[in-house]
Amino acid sequence: MTVDKIRRSVLVLGGLTGVLGGAAALGVGGVKERESDEAFWAAPRRLRLYRPQSGESVSDVYWQDGSLNTGGYLRICQLLRDIHVNQSVHMDVRLLDIIRAVQGYMEYYGFNNPIFINSGYRSSKTNANTEGAAKNSLHLLGRAVDFTMPGVPAVYMGALASHFQGGGVGFYVNSGFTHVDTGSVRYWSDEKKTIRRP
Ligand SMILES: [Zn+2]
Repeated sequence: MTVDKIRRSVLVLGGLTGVLGGAAALGVGGVKERESDEAFWAAPRRLRLYRPQSGESVSDVYWQDGSLNTGGYLRICQLLRDIHVNQSVHMDVRLLDIIRAVQGYMEYYGFNNPIFINSGYRSSKTNANTEGAAKNSLHLLGRAVDFTMPGVPAVYMGALASHFQGGGVGFYVNSGFTHVDTGSVRYWSDEKKTIRRP
């Protein structure tokens, strides 16, 4: 898939009404907020995540009443740890907001599955052992996750995540997952080997 095609697929998001809804921006990362978005972000920010590698799940609020909910935040960070070396870090709260936006959007339209986390924080050792991972991957800084939502194609999840413009989005269409991070807003895909991996 070329970048132009990805951009088009993001535009198509508006046409997925009924599946992903009317493409309302949820206010992440500079997207203009609307009144309903304010209500969304003012409500407790809960994430429901599942980690297939370990069988763990969380349903926790990481942000409430304008500040971090430390207990919930740390449990989410624990789920997003590097499973190979059993090490967790403080994940970027903006990253959690992007995931919350994706999940909130899906919940609004009746998709209540948890988000499946393939990879969150990565230690340098694990990153070095990860095929295709960049040396300076944002996974090393707790600023990236790779995820899936069963039943929803990666190209749709990528389009949805891109819509919030919270950072980078990798469309791993062939591998069937989506990467999001809090770096600059950019898109790439695994459909062409010439496109650099994150
Ligand atoms: Zn990734």
